[in-house]
Amino acid sequence: MSPHNLPLSGARLWADLLEVAGIGGTARGGCNRQALTPEDGEARRWLADRATALGAELLLDRFGNMGFRRPGRDAARPPVAFGSHLDTQPTGGKFDGVLGVLAGLELLRALHEARVETEAPLLLLNWTNEEGARFSPPMMGSGAALGLFAADEVLDGTDAAGRQFGDELRRIGWQGSDTLPELAAYLELHIEQGPLLEREGLAIGVVTHALAQRWYEIEVRGEEAHGGSAMAGRRDALVPAALLIAEAERIARQSGGDGRATVGMVRAEPASRNIVPSRAWFPLDTRHTDEAGLRRIEAPLRERAAALAAERGVTIDIGTFWDAPATPFDATLAGRVEAAAAARGLPHRRMPTGIGHDAVHVARRCPAAMIFVPCHGGVSHNEAESITPAWAEAGLLVLADAVLATANAKAAM
Ligand SMILES: [Zn+2]
Repeated sequence: MSPHNLPLSGARLWADLLEVAGIGGTARGGCNRQALTPEDGEARRWLADRATALGAELLLDRFGNMGFRRPGRDAARPPVAFGSHLDTQPTGGKFDGVLGVLAGLELLRALHEARVETEAPLLLLNWTNEEGARFSPPMMGSGAALGLFAADEVLDGTDAAGRQFGDELRRIGWQGSDTLPELAAYLELHIEQGPLLEREGLAIGVVTHALAQRWYEIEVRGEEAHGGSAMAGRRDALVPAALLIAEAERIARQSGGDGRATVGMVRAEPASRNIVPSRAWFPLDTRHTDEAGLRRIEAPLRERAAALAAERGVTIDIGTFWDAPATPFDATLAGRVEAAAAARGLPHRRMPTGIGHDAVHVARRCPAAMIFVPCHGGVSHNEAESITPAWAEAGLLVLADAVLATANAKAAM
């Protein structure tokens, strides 16, 4: 049976999205379904009831990651996996993460109805705590399951109220003892969380790689003075910090299409309205295609920092806080995503993701790729996040085709 004959239903997917949005739904039309809350537990139950009713077997690991295994003709083959996450930000939207999980559920439903067997087994995944809103860092469940994070650190980690991850997971009833199997491949459908696809009138983003990231902590030290003191001779720490932040933005814009620089907060000390600040501190998040791109931001930034320090009689220290290399997605899988979009007549483009996803973790262990669909205005991590039923359906069709092409290929990868 050609995948085009499968009874995949965009309408059913849309109805599911709206139903799950009601679990932790907010007055402003968004979702508050943070990891390991009762709402997270309720959404997990909703998913488990439906997936197991389609004959899939639930695998639950000690981090709460859920896998739903559907047998294939060849039981010896590792499963072809797909999914995303059901947890949200405290003021999150209805589609971030949820779309990838529920599209996977709709694929299982269509296969079940049509009684289609794949060569390789399939595995629908719901990763625990992708958002990192309540327990940090993000993409925690995939990182722990894949051995990228130490298990004890994840299970003992606490939220702002001091509650432990492991305790909270048991409290909502979703800690298991299974180990997720090795995966043949992993495909994740997700909203873009950026404006490009909508702006260009495209339905599908074929995600080829995740940007390299380097996060810094920058400290400027000057000298305190009275707000009434003369301007001459001041060694204000905050003004050069502000100038450097503006420089970071300018440099990133000029560093090529994939360059990004973001400062999300600033601290000034001693934080009195009539004292010239002696210390300014801010984190800087930079992203680019690769290491060379990151250097095209860092080198001129350090030069400007040195010049500002000299001009203003302050010291500027730029320390690296975190570094993540660029992650290429699997070319064969990305090719299948592109072929599926073309065969369905869906306008598409290749693009990177500048945002972390579970697929970026998975790509370090097995072939992985992502499918993006547009979201209005690029708005996400926001209760106003919205997509159209047509975009959701486009993502579903391409996900299904790419999964089936992979599961029915002679060798999975
Ligand atoms: Zn997400």
